[in-house]
Amino acid sequence: MTLKVGVIGLGNMGRGMAATLAGKGFDVSGFDLSGAALAQAENLGVKSVGVCAELIPAVDVLILSLPKAEHVEAVCLGYDGILELGRAGLVVIDTTTSTPETSRKVAAALREQRIGFIDAPVSGGPKGAATGTMSMVIGAEPGDLAKATPVLEAMSGTRVHIGSVGAGNVAKIANNMLAAAHLISTAEAVSMAAKAGVDPEKLLQGLNAGSGRSGASQVMFPTWVLNKAYDSGFTMGLMRKDVGLASDLTASLDLDLPLSRLVAQLWQQSSQTLPDSDDFCCIVQRTDNALFGRGE
Ligand code: NAD
Repeated sequence: MTLKVGVIGLGNMGRGMAATLAGKGFDVSGFDLSGAALAQAENLGVKSVGVCAELIPAVDVLILSLPKAEHVEAVCLGYDGILELGRAGLVVIDTTTSTPETSRKVAAALREQRIGFIDAPVSGGPKGAATGTMSMVIGAEPGDLAKATPVLEAMSGTRVHIGSVGAGNVAKIANNMLAAAHLISTAEAVSMAAKAGVDPEKLLQGLNAGSGRSGASQVMFPTWVLNKAYDSGFTMGLMRKDVGLASDLTASLDLDLPLSRLVAQLWQQSSQTLPDSDDFCCIVQRTDNALFGRGE
């Protein structure tokens, strides 16, 4: 029997996930509040549904790819949401970068209706979503994970089961805290070396052969920064959200992490010059606009 999969949120990531699963033989339907997002997904072979309430009761597995935790809570626990309309046995795979508390709260409420919920935030960007090569860090109970596995395997290249529900988002927040720092620290290293007369491309080759390498030096700078493309498909607004999630988690644990605090300040202050709609890699322009800016 063909597994029926629903996707709620057909933006940069959800669209690619839905198209990947449709291309691999799943029966995929999707919903988005935006008509333009629905139309784009439809062009990629995804059946579009006009109202969420039509989708939720009709599927075996439901994927969420929403901007923030508050959207996840509304879709799961709100009016005409998953708690109200999902059938027993449904498993929800939440790929949103959300908060561990939201994941735990929603999972506990849905469990009462025998609906499973796993947090499986992702890395790999729109390209990873569209090619089924994303990485996922997963918080799940073993029974729910087993049910979701055929879908998870079809949409990702690497999966790490971190722990119980909420642990996926803890791991994702830690990951993005590092990515946010690495973009800035790599920009500082490239700017310093350029002023010392070293070509940025040559420097990156050196860094990537050495111990200073990171996702910023290996992927972000070569793909989106040095060529000034700034078209990763991940926005400044969403990365600022993730940096805020890291600050909130740190504060809730009563920790003093001075380097992370400074990184968070730099990202928050950047809103004065870099709007939420800009590519997240544009943060490097604050370090050295002459080197990294587009000169517009
Ligand atoms: P996006 O803004 O492109 O897409 C989100 C979509 O959700 C939009 O189309 C919006 O209309 C829709 N939406 C919002 N509320 C809705 C609701 N109640 N019902 C239905 N649709 C609704 O965002 P994105 O870049 O696809 O990111 C999605 C999530 O994945 C975010 O949490 C982000 O942090 C995370 N993420 C993004 C990337 C990336 O490279 N873009 C990478 C890793 C993780």
